[in-house]
Amino acid sequence: MKENVIIIGGGVAGLEAARQMLSLGLRPIIVEQSDHLGGHVACWHRLFPDMTPARELVAKLVESCREANIFLETTVQSINRLKDGYAVMLSNGVNILSRAVLIASGFKLFDAAKKEEYGYGVYDHVITNRDLENWFAGAEDLRIPREPKVFGFVHCVGSRDIKAGNTQCSKVCCMTAIKQAIEIKEKFPGCEVFCFYMDLRLFGKKYEDFYLNAQRDYGIRFIRGRVSEVSETIDGRVQVKAEDTLSGKPLKIQMDCLCLMAGMQCNPSATSIADMLHVEVDTDGFLRSKDNIYSILESQKPGIFFAGACTGTKTVPETVAEARAAALSIFNYLSR
Ligand code: SF4
Repeated sequence: MKENVIIIGGGVAGLEAARQMLSLGLRPIIVEQSDHLGGHVACWHRLFPDMTPARELVAKLVESCREANIFLETTVQSINRLKDGYAVMLSNGVNILSRAVLIASGFKLFDAAKKEEYGYGVYDHVITNRDLENWFAGAEDLRIPREPKVFGFVHCVGSRDIKAGNTQCSKVCCMTAIKQAIEIKEKFPGCEVFCFYMDLRLFGKKYEDFYLNAQRDYGIRFIRGRVSEVSETIDGRVQVKAEDTLSGKPLKIQMDCLCLMAGMQCNPSATSIADMLHVEVDTDGFLRSKDNIYSILESQKPGIFFAGACTGTKTVPETVAEARAAALSIFNYLSR
């Protein structure tokens, strides 16, 4: 059965689904709007909790998809429902017929500049999780001082925040903050590192151990409380005001660098595909599954499937597991 299956999105979900589809004898066609495969993970340095190099995972997935058709820098222009499937027109002029479509268009990171009180884009030494990850991966970033003495992380930036329009927990940023805090301590052992959190959401395998190691082995300090104000000192450092809600005391700390943990939002390209297909969008802005327990990978429309963060915030292992399951669901659907 060599049937086309269109996969919209060439991140981890799209690649893993394509890999599985190839092994099931299907013909996956990946449509990716950026110029690279691997999505956000391709721009990440290491993955928690095992500190796996992200590029190794992406390289493995890309290698296993060599037999798939892949269109980079390509978008879906239109999708029309046929009697038995869909006609998909791409921005490069290619038309494809497919009885099943997998939406794996992932997420976008919240724009931290929208939280004006943190001064991202205004103060020299306020950065985001993505900036720091790029720097760990070797990119130059002059906002990160050569020998920081005090480094801070702010959790829940643009997540769990009604004012930011996103009440969801982004799931990965508590662990990302801990991972990045450890990496800072490894690079600069003498640096004091603070994490400001509302709650720590450490639900996955080995996550709690990872957190305990961060405190015990690296001396990272976790402060429960929201940062209320960030400003710049006369010598270019960052001054952070917060309240420690466990001790009830206000805090004022000067730092060399402050990293904002920007959360996940639905990718606007997923919403535009949903419009074309008349697939519903949920109250959280992500695509709505047929149900949230048994059919999370299916849409309300026949032949339209989901994998990964297009339906909600996901970790990398969850994304991989969903992609495998979606490939199998599509195979079963096409075999009926
Ligand atoms: S994972 Fe942690 S930092 Fe991220 S939104 Fe949830 S509680 Fe906030």
